[in-house]
Amino acid sequence: MAVVLAYGGGTNSTALCIEAVKRGLPIDLIVFADTGRRDAEMPETYRYIDQFSDWLVRHGYPPITVVRSATMGGETLEENCLRMGRLPSKAYGFKSCSDRWKVRPCWAEIKRLGMDGGIYIRGIDADESHRCRRADPKPGWSACFALVDWMLGRQECADVIVGVGLPLPGKSACFYCPAGGPSEVADLWETHPPMFERGLMIEAVAKANGGLRGRVRGLGLDFGWGEVDRSMRRQEALPWSRGSEDSCGCYDGARRADIALAPDYCGTFDVQIEVGPGGEWPLARDWRRSTGPGRQQSLFGTD
Ligand code: SF4
Repeated sequence: MAVVLAYGGGTNSTALCIEAVKRGLPIDLIVFADTGRRDAEMPETYRYIDQFSDWLVRHGYPPITVVRSATMGGETLEENCLRMGRLPSKAYGFKSCSDRWKVRPCWAEIKRLGMDGGIYIRGIDADESHRCRRADPKPGWSACFALVDWMLGRQECADVIVGVGLPLPGKSACFYCPAGGPSEVADLWETHPPMFERGLMIEAVAKANGGLRGRVRGLGLDFGWGEVDRSMRRQEALPWSRGSEDSCGCYDGARRADIALAPDYCGTFDVQIEVGPGGEWPLARDWRRSTGPGRQQSLFGTD
């Protein structure tokens, strides 16, 4: 039975890996899906993944395996948006960008390795247990949301990382994700201008092709990156947005303050911790919530 951990590159799944080491829980594969070619996330995210992967190996765990979509000749999500003249599907209320560029490449790798069943662990934290909807991800695979079982919310996940002396990774997502709010986009404008320009290009091409429609005003969903650009140049207030707290299946959260601060966090990967005695991963199907006297209900749908 294989144990696979879906690593998102953010605070939650980093804390999940660290807890696995501290408890000595087994992992056969740690997989991270890159929607680009080391250019879809913040550069510091890729650096973090490289260093954290080495840290895991030094503790006897597998390295982080980076996978990418192989469909359409390995076209990245950004290339697909530019070719099709549309925004990532998240902007239109769908999750196919997450599914095609994140979820499917992970399962393709699992299949390639001949793993035909086991435990599939995701880094959804205890503050967002509403995202733990499905029981098992595929036949033969048991879902595991260990952070929820361990009652580790967003703050506790950051504490786990800092507690062992590692730097915080911040949030992980495509830098052009439509779920990013105006302040995040403004941070990008300031810190990574070439990446901001690439987002503007996605928006401009989509606009020229009729990809902005209905409530979709731009790459920010209910605001345009062009509006942020104007606001920043004129030093005016940022556009208002309803915001999108929980972005997609590939979202790996961080505390709000960590998002802009991540590159500045001090810390070293040169720390060694004791590997725990071992044990079993908690399975979602075993997790029940009491909803009244004598009544138990699964939080994760049907078994
Ligand atoms: S991070 Fe956003 S843009 Fe990237 S795959 Fe997920 S929903 Fe789509």
